[in-house]
Amino acid sequence: MPQITIVGAGLIGLSCAWRAQMSGWDVTIIDRQFDGDRASHGNAGGIAVSESTPMAIPGFSLKVARWLLDPLGPLSIRPAHAFKLLPWFIAFNQVNKPENFKRLSFALASLNNRVYDDFLPMLKDLGISDHLHRRGALTVYESERSFQSEAAEWAWKRELGVKWRAVSRDEIRVLEPNLAPLFSHGLMIEDWGHINDPKKIVEALRSAIISRGAILIPGEVARLDLSNRSQPAAIHVNGKRIAGDKLLVANGAWAGRLAATVGDRVLIESERGYNTTLPDESRRLHREVIFADRKFVATPLQVGLRIGGAAEFAGLDAPPNYRRSDALMRLARRYIPGMSEQGAQQWMGNRPTTPDSIPVLGPSPQSPNLLYAFGHGHLGLTQAATTAAIINDLICENPTMDLSEFSVARFGKAA
Ligand SMILES: Cc1cc2nc3c(=O)[nH]c(=O)nc-3n(C[C@H](O)[C@H](O)[C@H](O)COP(=O)(O)OP(=O)(O)OC[C@H]3O[C@@H](n4cnc5c(N)ncnc54)[C@H](O)[C@@H]3O)c2cc1C
Repeated sequence: MPQITIVGAGLIGLSCAWRAQMSGWDVTIIDRQFDGDRASHGNAGGIAVSESTPMAIPGFSLKVARWLLDPLGPLSIRPAHAFKLLPWFIAFNQVNKPENFKRLSFALASLNNRVYDDFLPMLKDLGISDHLHRRGALTVYESERSFQSEAAEWAWKRELGVKWRAVSRDEIRVLEPNLAPLFSHGLMIEDWGHINDPKKIVEALRSAIISRGAILIPGEVARLDLSNRSQPAAIHVNGKRIAGDKLLVANGAWAGRLAATVGDRVLIESERGYNTTLPDESRRLHREVIFADRKFVATPLQVGLRIGGAAEFAGLDAPPNYRRSDALMRLARRYIPGMSEQGAQQWMGNRPTTPDSIPVLGPSPQSPNLLYAFGHGHLGLTQAATTAAIINDLICENPTMDLSEFSVARFGKAA
């Protein structure tokens, strides 16, 4: 049987492992900590299929300055990291040129518009179809002005295939009676869903691939190795070289470091997000609510109401700053009054974020046997099963999609 080695056992690596096994591949998967925490465990649990515009929407740069000055604002950059962030930020600033924005939106929509076609069969096979709740998401605005400020983006999203409808102040009260009466305008995003608990999906995937014969190797992959032409693609882990027919790098925010070991340049940052889960409040809301003015969300997961968001750029190694979770909770108390905070759990995770919000999917220019699947930013749960289907098509040499927008080559060569 053909053999694939996968680096990273988050949602992306595990989904790709699951899909490759379905096509008859032997899977070896390596993670430095199979039971450790990761972005895939604690995220907001949203199947956010409407998020088909890059983060750098037109006008975003002007907002950045305002947000950076606001202690409760959604964005922060640690001064010690600002210089390292510069190349990423310069690339980010190119995205909102109209021609780039349009092209990248189409690329994102080409993934998001097929998400349920890939996600539903995966949940079914894992025996957890009932973990998905397709009740839409409600975006709420505090004023006509803030609603109008996003009108052009929503009109564009409709052209991309997103289904939404405007919701009045009164309907917001009916849909989510536990929200404070502060919201004048809303949008119901029909196709959005949420799941019971992202960690449960990680666990179900891991159990499934183990039961189907995957080999799990704990260890930190130090580098990739394409030097031996007779053993196509290899990694170095625990002082050993492990080779396979195909090698897939799917280690999230850390992937740039590994790609660099074979000369592939990647612009990727850890966009650190924070949340707080309130275990007694899983029924406070009916669906995910997106607070548009403050850029945070609340999702009624089975494990509790998860309140989160924020984008902090501080690199991969800085300790968490839970004052960001505190700031979100201060806002949430105003918007969702009366919540019990007993047993509240704070969390931070590393979103693997590229400047153009497009994941890296496809082969390395160095070798068709080395594949990449990382950089899913805010959408790794949403796009996991779709990523797995695309990677499966590649390893089975049956590509069904033009992946040029997703190529690592867009970042240029390593210096
Ligand atoms: C606050 C927050 C909210 C979010 N909300 C949503 C949401 O609602 N919907 C959505 O779709 N997405 C959401 N996301 C994004 C989503 O969680 C991520 O995009 C996704 O989890 C990325 O998965 P991954 O497998 O690429 O990375 P990870 O989950 O980070 O997994 C990477 C794995 O690689 C391993 N690893 C790293 N380097 C090495 C190495 N050198 N050797 C061996 N192993 C290594 C790590 O141990 C880890 O297990 C959110 C993220 C955050 C932080």
